[in-house]
Amino acid sequence: MYRGRSPPPVKRAVLSSSARGMSAESPADHQYRTLALDTALGTGLAVLVYALLKLSLSGLRVWRARVSVLVVGAGPVGLTAALVAVRSGKVLKLTLLDARYRSALLCRPQQIALDPRSVRFLLDLGVDFDNMEGCWRNEHFFTKIGVFQEYLLSILEQNKQKGDVEVHLGTKFSEEYLRKMSRAEWPRVIVVADGSCGDSCSVLGISTDYIVESCHAYGANATIERLDQRQVPTPEIRAHSLYFDLSAYGIDTVKDRRNSCQPAAKPGFHLKIYGTFRNRYMALACTSEADSKMMHFLRHTANSSIMKNIFHQSFNAYKTDIEPRLSEPTLHHMQCSRRLFEIMLSYRRVSAAYIEGDNVAVTVEGEAARVLNFDTGCGVNLGMRGLESLGMFIYRTATALDRNDVFEALSAKIQHSRHVAETFRRSGLASAVFE
Ligand SMILES: Cc1cc2nc3c(=O)[nH]c(=O)nc-3n(C[C@H](O)[C@H](O)[C@H](O)COP(=O)(O)OP(=O)(O)OC[C@H]3O[C@@H](n4cnc5c(N)ncnc54)[C@H](O)[C@@H]3O)c2cc1C
Repeated sequence: MYRGRSPPPVKRAVLSSSARGMSAESPADHQYRTLALDTALGTGLAVLVYALLKLSLSGLRVWRARVSVLVVGAGPVGLTAALVAVRSGKVLKLTLLDARYRSALLCRPQQIALDPRSVRFLLDLGVDFDNMEGCWRNEHFFTKIGVFQEYLLSILEQNKQKGDVEVHLGTKFSEEYLRKMSRAEWPRVIVVADGSCGDSCSVLGISTDYIVESCHAYGANATIERLDQRQVPTPEIRAHSLYFDLSAYGIDTVKDRRNSCQPAAKPGFHLKIYGTFRNRYMALACTSEADSKMMHFLRHTANSSIMKNIFHQSFNAYKTDIEPRLSEPTLHHMQCSRRLFEIMLSYRRVSAAYIEGDNVAVTVEGEAARVLNFDTGCGVNLGMRGLESLGMFIYRTATALDRNDVFEALSAKIQHSRHVAETFRRSGLASAVFE
């Protein structure tokens, strides 16, 4: 009996016919169907368990993978590299070497200027700028090189207590150091950050060839050392579109300005005064596009007092009000380039390598990898750019299944290193000096 609306008769007929079909299945068919279903389910489950097991085993392997890392050089780049390694979570043991003892390492007079990108990179590594002596201007952080190094050393020394970090100051990386190392002690990754004068690459048998390329600009540097002045972190000063009166040497500046500067080129010179009041540095630069009689003259003059005069006048014009002027009697505190020179970037042909037999992957960082013949006053940032790929390199080397994986990690590191050099050559001076 149906209450309410009854279903249409046709549908009822269909339903009853399909019900008949079901009841028509023989017990053998039913058994076969059940068996097939069970087998499919069983196989599926086995595949799923296998995949899960494989995934978790490979996850476990990746999670447990650790390598021992040796960092050569405790300059700002070497120390940051050591921090990147520790933070990568893939280091079994980290050893940091520097040929200098602590006092010599931390007493260098220069300042470093960390640009906004380096600041962000260091913040991600846990660097606390509020706990470091320094000052900010235009999102750049200025601090003494020794203050920065001491801060990073203290972070590494906190890890030292956990036993996985060793810092050996006063220890030179040399053939003798390698000889004394037992095979079991050999690291899987070596980060060479031994600066522009280091020779660790030759110790490791890595090519010391450099590619030298023009940055399409000319420059000159000066230093002023005044021991009676303060050595506290000080922001840099920049000045642009400078012209100098060289009429006494037959160079007509006004005419030269009107005729020679191409519209797209940044006209005139760019000046930067940086460092502490005790150790002042100056960088003077111009783009080669803005080539003019004045630049030509300053590139070729044999009279070194012209450059000295230019730096002298520029310093007095742009220095801060609270520091003393340079006068004739104090001019001997200043050393400077004799003439303008072409700014060139040198970078290593081989910036990462694999040492066959010892199964060691080497990467070269900081000024050991790329260096200018001109001090921009923020050279450390070029080193920091290279380190942006170090964490991934250590991760990939640690989790490599075979040598091919290590080669791929090395190849990516080399590509990044080239990219850093090429980007700097194209636009690095603009942000460091010209803007
Ligand atoms: C005069 C001057 C002024 C500068 N002013 C500024 C500035 O105002 N702002 C700025 O940002 N940058 C400035 N710079 C640049 C800045 O100092 C460098 O960019 C920075 O120091 C490079 O760091 P690094 O770690 O690559 O090399 P380095 O600082 O040179 O460190 C290399 C370390 O490796 C060690 N070492 C070398 N060989 C071995 C070995 N075989 N075994 C063990 N250890 C070894 C050395 O003892 C050294 O401590 C200035 C540089 C100079 C020279």
